[in-house]
Amino acid sequence: MKRAKYGKLHRLLSNFASRPIHRWWVEPAMICHALLFVGNKFVCPCCGWRLRAFTHGGASLKVRPSGYCPRCNSKARHRRDWLFLKESTNLFVDRLCLLHVSPKYALSRRLVKMPNIHFVGIDLEKRTHVAYQIDITKIPFESESFDAIICIHVLEHVENDRKAIGELFRVLKKGGWALFTVPIDFGRATYENPSIVSPEERKKHFGEEQHVRVYGLDFTERLKACGFEVHLDRGEDVAVENKEKYGLLDDENVFYCTKT
Ligand SMILES: [Zn+2]
Repeated sequence: MKRAKYGKLHRLLSNFASRPIHRWWVEPAMICHALLFVGNKFVCPCCGWRLRAFTHGGASLKVRPSGYCPRCNSKARHRRDWLFLKESTNLFVDRLCLLHVSPKYALSRRLVKMPNIHFVGIDLEKRTHVAYQIDITKIPFESESFDAIICIHVLEHVENDRKAIGELFRVLKKGGWALFTVPIDFGRATYENPSIVSPEERKKHFGEEQHVRVYGLDFTERLKACGFEVHLDRGEDVAVENKEKYGLLDDENVFYCTKT
């Protein structure tokens, strides 16, 4: 009985960021949860929380190395992206019109409050910080509307990813930048097969039920083919002390793209 109750609470909180609009009590609940993990071993750059361990996510009390932040629910990839954005872009400095594709709550909860940013969140579904429910292969904005774009772990879900990349390139201003991340296997070429459509088969072939491909190193070429200049910032090249301090993983690679 006790276990069943915990399971319900866990389910309720663990996916809170993907709910249509997360409830008022989620933030206080997450603070209470995070108080159990206060410590000096790690820091979450997304929320600034100092903690003794990362968790399995949501309201879980189970510890997981480089797992979720108990305060803001950031994954390792979000912490990595936040650090990159802070250290290598003008996102925290200049006045920017930012397009965040499928906003990741661990990032958007702070980005929407930053006075220098005009935040525009888009997704197919109505979720927290999503202003427009749109398909990124048909973006209804004028060309060169945005100074910056964040697109984290989205393209592996999109059947016509080349069209989506082209659309994002189109709406980006000249001189602007776009940050892309995708799950990637550098040891092979991109693997995709449009005839594989069932969730079971997609999980078997692409690793997740909703993924439509596994990207390889040639992902860079897809970005370049749409006009971007591409700089790959490899996760394995991050300083060891930062990996340990922020709970990062080697396979969190950032594709920083510019439109010149
Ligand atoms: Zn955090």
